[in-house]
Amino acid sequence: MILTITMNPSVDISYSLNPFKIDDVNRVESVSKTAGGKGLNVARVISQMNEEVKATGIMGGTVGSYISKTLKAENIKQDFLMIKKESRNCIAILHEENQTEILESGPTLEKSEGDLFLKKLSDLLNHVSIVTISGSLPKGLSPKYYQKLISLCEKKKVPVLLDTSGRTLKETISNSSKPLLIKPNETELGDLINKKISNSTDVLKKALSHEIFNEIEYVIVSLGADGAFAKYKESFYRITIPKIKVMNPVGSGDATMAGLAIGLKQKKSIEETLKLGMTTGMLNTMEKKTGFIDKRNFDNYYSKVHVEKV
Ligand code: ADP
Repeated sequence: MILTITMNPSVDISYSLNPFKIDDVNRVESVSKTAGGKGLNVARVISQMNEEVKATGIMGGTVGSYISKTLKAENIKQDFLMIKKESRNCIAILHEENQTEILESGPTLEKSEGDLFLKKLSDLLNHVSIVTISGSLPKGLSPKYYQKLISLCEKKKVPVLLDTSGRTLKETISNSSKPLLIKPNETELGDLINKKISNSTDVLKKALSHEIFNEIEYVIVSLGADGAFAKYKESFYRITIPKIKVMNPVGSGDATMAGLAIGLKQKKSIEETLKLGMTTGMLNTMEKKTGFIDKRNFDNYYSKVHVEKV
């Protein structure tokens, strides 16, 4: 099965307010609460694709209990390191076609809690064939913490798909144990190599030829409505997708990770894996809820994705 790691999960609360009044009382009638954090979106989409998945990471407090209850209700297997500290709430206020977000940073962890999770992961790795790591690290853990997770996975011969950003991504991929796949978006790719990225094939080829990517088998740059550009071993691919009606693009990168993980787990070809990732990404943008897809639309959109070696 696929194991998804979420080190800083949240309860994502969305309030619809029209208008949103600053320095005044706002009464909310429409509230939605979901188990959030990028890795949980990945787990949900894998589960909606009817693939076996287990969610792990660290969570705690009453917010942690709520996340756990939500995953249970969604029939997603889970095995988290439970701590006393409270997991976080993340609030999105939807108002006049805008989205204002208030994001708690979550608990500050001790090194000992990080070590306990490594122990848990070591056991879990005996029963899984692929791992995804998504999102930021909680406060208190070193930016090198994901390196430790990937080294452990390497020891147990379990490949890792990594989706994080900023300093954590840079630190993690400069280690000698490499993830099998990373999925930066355009901005994250630019940040990694300190260059402005455009959608031109020459620019993307040059960017992905940077030595920082040398030993990473799959580098998939997701480009929103423009699909994606990928490097697989020494080859480059441009992936084009159809025009679709977007309801909510939040979480589409996570849904893409879910599709890529399924493709790799099922040992699909590079073309099929890329098409899978693009299709789950697109399906997520067509739903209101973050990290949700309607599998009934899968075949139709899968057939409209084109992969070309460039
Ligand atoms: P991230 O959420 O990590 O920034 P992207 O925005 O690049 O990732 O989205 C990931 C994938 O989701 C895209 O490669 C594409 O398949 C799909 N997607 C995202 N936004 C759109 C859009 N506006 N129209 C069609 N597909 C989209």
